[in-house]
Amino acid sequence: MNTPWNGHFSGFELVAKSDARPRSIVNVGPVAVGGSEFVVMAGPCSVENEHQLLTTAESVARSGARILRGGAFKPRSSPYAFQGLGEDGLKILARARKETGLAIVTEVMSETDVDLVAEYSDMMQIGARSMENFSLLEAVARCGRPVLLKRGMCATLQDLMRSAQFVAENGNPNIILCERGIRTFEKATRNTFDISAVPVLNLVTHLPVIVDPSHAAGVRAIVPPLSRAAVVVGAAGLLVEVHPQPEKALSDGEQSLTFAEFRAMMRSLRPYLAIRAVEESATTLPEVPEVLAVGGHA
Ligand code: PEP
Ligand code: MN
Repeated sequence: MNTPWNGHFSGFELVAKSDARPRSIVNVGPVAVGGSEFVVMAGPCSVENEHQLLTTAESVARSGARILRGGAFKPRSSPYAFQGLGEDGLKILARARKETGLAIVTEVMSETDVDLVAEYSDMMQIGARSMENFSLLEAVARCGRPVLLKRGMCATLQDLMRSAQFVAENGNPNIILCERGIRTFEKATRNTFDISAVPVLNLVTHLPVIVDPSHAAGVRAIVPPLSRAAVVVGAAGLLVEVHPQPEKALSDGEQSLTFAEFRAMMRSLRPYLAIRAVEESATTLPEVPEVLAVGGHA
C-alpha cells in the first residue's frame, strides 16, 4: 500500500497495512478490538487490594468499560516505590473478571513471569520501558495471549513497528499498539501525547491503535480532553487509569480519574463517537444543502 513515507516503514510486512489486509481485529477474551466498537480499558494503575479492585471493576463496567486494567507487576522509577502485589494481584484480577465479566489486561515485566501472567489475564501488557526488551517480546509472543504493546517513551513510530513485527515474527499476530505519550522538553504534562501517532499508524499498520491518555497527561484534568481527541483522530480505544480515591493511590494517583470523573468522561465521548460512526459508514461525502453551501440562511 502506498504511504507518504516511502520506505520509512518498510521491513514490517507482517504488521503493515495492505490492500489485502487493511485492518485487523484482536479478540481480548470476548471483546473485539479494532472493529466497529470503541473499546475502553480502565482500572487502577496498580492492584492494591481486593476491595479497591472490585469496586473499581464494577464502577468502570457500569460506565461502559469492557476491559479491566491493573498492574500486579509494576515498573517503577524508584526502587523504594510500591512494586505491585505480584501473584496475589493476579488472583484479585481473576476474581474481578469472574464477578464482572470484564476481560483483563495486566503488565508482564519479566520473561520468567510470562506463563504466570498468561494464566490469569486475557491480554499481556508490554510497558513503555519494555518495548525493546526483545527476549521478553519473544516469550510473550509465544504464550498465545494477545499483546498490548506500549510505545516506549523515547521510541519512534518506526521503533514501535519494529517491535510489533518482532512479536508477529515470533508467531503472535494478535497485537494492539498503544500511544502513551513521549518525552519532549514540555514539563506541564508528564509526557507529550503524540496525537499524530494515531493517524500515522492507522495508515501504515493493520493493527488496532489505542491511546493511554493517563500516562501521556500525568494530570487528571487533561485526561478527558485527550480521550476525546483520541476518538477524533481514529483510535480504536483507550486505556485509562481510574481509582476509588486517587489521593490515596499507591501509584499514579495524580493522573487517575475518580469513578464520577470516569463516568462523565465516558458520556462526553458519545457525540464524538456518533460522528465517527457516521463517517465510517459513509461511502461518499454527505450532501451539503445548497442554501448552506453558499453560506446562506437555513
Ligand atoms: C501503566 O500502564 O501503568 C504503565 C506503567 O504504563 P507505561 O508503561 O506506559 O509507563
Ligand atoms: Mn500507571
